[in-house]
Amino acid sequence: MEFDVAVVGGGILGTSLAYWLAARYEGTIAVLEREATVARHTSSRNTGVVHRPFYLHPEERKRFARASQTSYPLWKKYAADKGLPWREVGTLKVAMSDHDMAYLEKNAKWAVQNGMDPSEVALLDASQVQRLEPNLRCSGALLARTDTCVDYRAFTEAIRGDAERMGVAFLTGFPVSEIRANSHRQTLRSNGYSPDVQAKFVVNCAGGEAVRLAHTAGVALDYTDLNFRGEYWIVDRGAAALVSRNVYSVPRQSDLPFLDPHWIVRADGRRDIGPNAVPVPSPYDYEGLFEHAKEWPTKIFEPPVGNKVRLAVSGAFLGMAARELLSSLSKGEMMRRVQRFIPRLRERDLVSRGFAGVRASVVNAKGVIEKEAIEVEGAGSFHVLNYNSPGATGAPAYTASVVATLAAEGRLDHLRPAAKAGPWSWDAVAQGMGLAG
Ligand SMILES: Cc1cc2nc3c(=O)[nH]c(=O)nc-3n(C[C@H](O)[C@H](O)[C@H](O)COP(=O)(O)OP(=O)(O)OC[C@H]3O[C@@H](n4cnc5c(N)ncnc54)[C@H](O)[C@@H]3O)c2cc1C
Repeated sequence: MEFDVAVVGGGILGTSLAYWLAARYEGTIAVLEREATVARHTSSRNTGVVHRPFYLHPEERKRFARASQTSYPLWKKYAADKGLPWREVGTLKVAMSDHDMAYLEKNAKWAVQNGMDPSEVALLDASQVQRLEPNLRCSGALLARTDTCVDYRAFTEAIRGDAERMGVAFLTGFPVSEIRANSHRQTLRSNGYSPDVQAKFVVNCAGGEAVRLAHTAGVALDYTDLNFRGEYWIVDRGAAALVSRNVYSVPRQSDLPFLDPHWIVRADGRRDIGPNAVPVPSPYDYEGLFEHAKEWPTKIFEPPVGNKVRLAVSGAFLGMAARELLSSLSKGEMMRRVQRFIPRLRERDLVSRGFAGVRASVVNAKGVIEKEAIEVEGAGSFHVLNYNSPGATGAPAYTASVVATLAAEGRLDHLRPAAKAGPWSWDAVAQGMGLAG
């Protein structure tokens, strides 16, 4: 139970990271995962879209824009090589006002600035949208032709297979309770579930538990997090033909872009609507509002308490939380949020609740919800916090850049020369992300 590098968390982030570590590093590598298999949480409980980066500000969200752009051909090739779903239906991002239309014009520019081919996007007026999708009502839209529906769980399982073939050990059923940090050797404890694991270096990719585990290692102490549950409703097969593409709307609050539910085409052709963003006390609180209620006091009072207090008194937050709660309690309310751009959608078209996924959003000391992924370094550890959407899209390229950072800092002592690893080439990713070979 001694490894050179231990990765905590077998979601799409930790699994992709292990893949690139194995491709570039000669040491022993383990992934410690609390569940019996990989991708049991957010990495399989999401919208399932490979997002093209037209909506990401080229400077403010540069890292994710670049990771999404670089990862797109990697996923496309991966799906083809492994025979996994790749459903390129495209997305219409709809404007409900002239103000929204001006925002979409910016998105069209960002698409090209972020490296997309100009032919991948088109600005459409209301009548052009009507010709494509007669049941949509809007002032206009941006069509992103290459947005693609996939199954991220299947992707993560396949990457696990590739990583194992390159020698990575997956220790499943290992819930890490504590990272005891030391500059030479880290100890990963599991509250008695398994014997301790020792590692020279730890990378924390624990999703909803990443902040808590970073705190046990004594880092990221000025951050806390909140959990938002994104719920989906399944659309009746009879109503699936209402719209054939994904439909997103321009976010009504640009600082909280994950609040507006969409019309979604799943990789298997099913249609869903969602997600909303209901505050919940645990990263594993997938249904109901009361089962986990006893966890609220722990969540609210975990330090640093001031961050959440500042967020709560900022005014907009409590109103937002109440609205999201209402759309959890009321199917009609959820339906109306999508009906504003698909007027023919009816409550009876939503036949049952789909799965839900929980995002862990980091709140900083100013009481602001962070937008980008946050990397925090300890003496023998590296922690990725706030790895949210489009995190699944960007995972292959983002994790390659983390490996490049660790290598540049001398954290990986026996680095291999760049090589083709599994189906992906390091050089192609390095070029896309602007990394040293
Ligand atoms: C509702 C919703 C919709 C989304 N839609 C999209 C989308 O369409 N496209 C897109 O690109 N992105 C999307 N995202 C974002 C994307 O899903 C995430 O960025 C990504 O899945 C995060 O991966 P992860 O590996 O960091 O987290 P996770 O998948 O949560 O993985 C963390 C892993 O760590 C394990 N773990 C946690 N604690 C411990 C511990 N103590 N010990 C051991 N193991 C532990 C967990 O079991 C889990 O397997 C969406 C997110 C949400 C919430």
